[in-house]
Amino acid sequence: MAAIPAPVPGVRAARPSSISLSARASLFTAGILTLLGLLCGITLYAGEQSKAEQQVHESAFRIAAAIAEYAKEDLSDAASLQQTITRGAHWRNVDRVAFYDAAGTLIMADGAAPIPEEAEALRASRARQSLIQAGMTAVSAAPVAENGVRFGAVVVTVRNPSAFAAAWQTMGGYIALIAAYVAMATALSIAFVRRAVAPLQQLTEFAERADTQQGGRALQVRTGDEFETLANAFNQMMERLDASTRRVRALAYIDATTQLPNHEFYTRELNRAITQSNPDAAPGALIIIDFGRLQKMLETLGPEASSNLLALVAHRLRSAVRMVDRLVRLQAAQSQPTFIARLRQHEFGLIAHSFAEEGDIARYAQLIASAVNQPFVWRDLKLSLDARCGAVRIGEDGRDADALTRNARLALQAARSTPTGVKFFTRALDLEVANRLQLENDMRSALERNEFHAFFQPKVNLADGRIMGAEALARWIRPDKTIVSPALFIPVAEECGLIGQVAEAVMREACWKAAAWAREGLAVQVAVNVSALQLRDDAFAEHIQKILEQAGLPPFCLELELTESIAMENPDQALRIIEPLRARGVRFSIDDFGCGHSSLAALTRLPFDVLKIDQQFVRGLERDRHAPAMIETILAMAATLNLDVVAEGVEQEREAQFLRRRGCIYGQGFLFGAPEPAAVFGERLRAQASGLRPVYAGEQDIDAA
Ligand code: C2E
Ligand code: MG
Ligand code: MG
Repeated sequence: MAAIPAPVPGVRAARPSSISLSARASLFTAGILTLLGLLCGITLYAGEQSKAEQQVHESAFRIAAAIAEYAKEDLSDAASLQQTITRGAHWRNVDRVAFYDAAGTLIMADGAAPIPEEAEALRASRARQSLIQAGMTAVSAAPVAENGVRFGAVVVTVRNPSAFAAAWQTMGGYIALIAAYVAMATALSIAFVRRAVAPLQQLTEFAERADTQQGGRALQVRTGDEFETLANAFNQMMERLDASTRRVRALAYIDATTQLPNHEFYTRELNRAITQSNPDAAPGALIIIDFGRLQKMLETLGPEASSNLLALVAHRLRSAVRMVDRLVRLQAAQSQPTFIARLRQHEFGLIAHSFAEEGDIARYAQLIASAVNQPFVWRDLKLSLDARCGAVRIGEDGRDADALTRNARLALQAARSTPTGVKFFTRALDLEVANRLQLENDMRSALERNEFHAFFQPKVNLADGRIMGAEALARWIRPDKTIVSPALFIPVAEECGLIGQVAEAVMREACWKAAAWAREGLAVQVAVNVSALQLRDDAFAEHIQKILEQAGLPPFCLELELTESIAMENPDQALRIIEPLRARGVRFSIDDFGCGHSSLAALTRLPFDVLKIDQQFVRGLERDRHAPAMIETILAMAATLNLDVVAEGVEQEREAQFLRRRGCIYGQGFLFGAPEPAAVFGERLRAQASGLRPVYAGEQDIDAA
């Protein structure tokens, strides 16, 4: 058997667009380490800066004190004082030197413009030396005093930006060290984080692939921590999921009764075969096999027995296919065995590959059919399956699985009426179906437009030609007045389920017209044909009674005609319909008697009032030497069973005479009148009532002739 189709891979769960957990953890650690490095750098920088400032500060302090010392010597000589001041101002890093007297008045100065800190330093230096620091600029004031007498103060502004640059130089080494530390620590921590979260990554990928790796390897995590517990739980969960997925897939693709692939599986396999088909290669075939006789058997069996029988039939089919494959298609079947599926109740599909020529396909189907048709014994019953096959060529007789299956089923339908039971699909079959569909559509519109009517064909007393009843026969009168025969539309109506509506129209018209004639004093019995579908409806008897009441027709004026095949399809059901209606006075006739296979069974099992001899016997009177004997036998049997007899299809006077002389009382046929519209038939009844000579004069006229 072909492998059960793999599940369609699901759409992979979308990964969040943000970065992965390990990347985030690494980034976080790297960030923290960089921050730490930065903090170290800033602390070092602050230390170095204050060291540089301290240097400037100290040098300003020292310079101010030194110049104040020189100035003290020069107090008496303004020129030397000026010289000392100027010399001091040229010292390295000195921006300005100023001399103030004790009152704080600037006496002399050299260097850049004074800065506000100068006044401040001066103020602060009244008691002792003072220093004002502003970045890399320090302003220091030193008092010029002797023996406790303060003569003034020297204020020095020292600026040394290079002190800071020197600090930066010292810091360079530190920075490189910190950067190396940060880089190393970051790399190490990233490696560590990655290693720590690796099982999680494994779990994530495993979970993502979970829907595509049925029966795949288990997850291997040996970390001894929560990850390992999680991975083990995951493995157990996947095992259970795997088992239930396998069960679900078997349920979805395998038919439980026969253990064969089901329709779903078949459709996939067929579509695959279509895709692989190649016009230049040996053709493949789809063969649909139906066991028509199985339907009836299954209907009568309980659920357990019907499953058992179906399983046996499937087994026989499988064995037959394998045997035929082995015998006649050794090579082709070895490379690609025939695929067998159960499609519907008793319908199976075979997909077979590589036939050397088209004729081989039909031969192959025939061999399989005859192999399965061999009688067999099941529960003490000898059974034979009436296998029918419809075949199509894969890739040629349909674009997809649906079209191929449909066409194979069309061929199967046609196969039912072939002697071999095997039929190949042809375009003509397709056309037939298209015409049928057209007819079905037309019928639906015709029903809406009330185009279905009852025509009435007289049933006469053969002795005197008097009309004693009529058969209401359906006619479809198209808008262009053409009349469609029921032989054409009744089978289609039955197939597409429209027969109920058509029959309803005929039944109503027949009952209403019969009631109207009865009210006129022209009471006749009107017979209406019943279809198989109507008889299957449990509410049919009730429905007829309702129509009779609505029309106001006495029940004994209505006769219902059942063919023996319809009546014997389900005799118990027929009896359930017949009995209550018969109890009210409705008569029942068995139509087309003698042309089915169960005539006698129908007569003995069901309570009929009238027997209608099928037209083939009457027509056969001239040609078939057995026909007279048959008619005589039927008449004798009807007399014994106390049934009225109507001979159908009487066209010739000779036939009427024969029937009359053999004791047949009633006749129906073109000799007495064809089916005609209600108005024409009504006129005929009126003419008969007014004593006019009937159309058919009866025995007297013949004798006279
Ligand atoms: P049937 O019930 O056996 O009706 C008799 C058929 O024989 C009618 O054909 C009728 O026109 C035809 N016939 C009558 N006398 C002669 C004759 O002398 N010679 C020949 N060759 N034929 C004669 P029709 O009207 O074409 O109906 C055919 C069949 O369609 C009916 O056979 C009946 O089975 C079915 N049918 C007609 N109307 C209805 C209906 O309303 N409901 C159902 N369920 N079936 C109907
Ligand atoms: Mg009939
Ligand atoms: Mg008939």
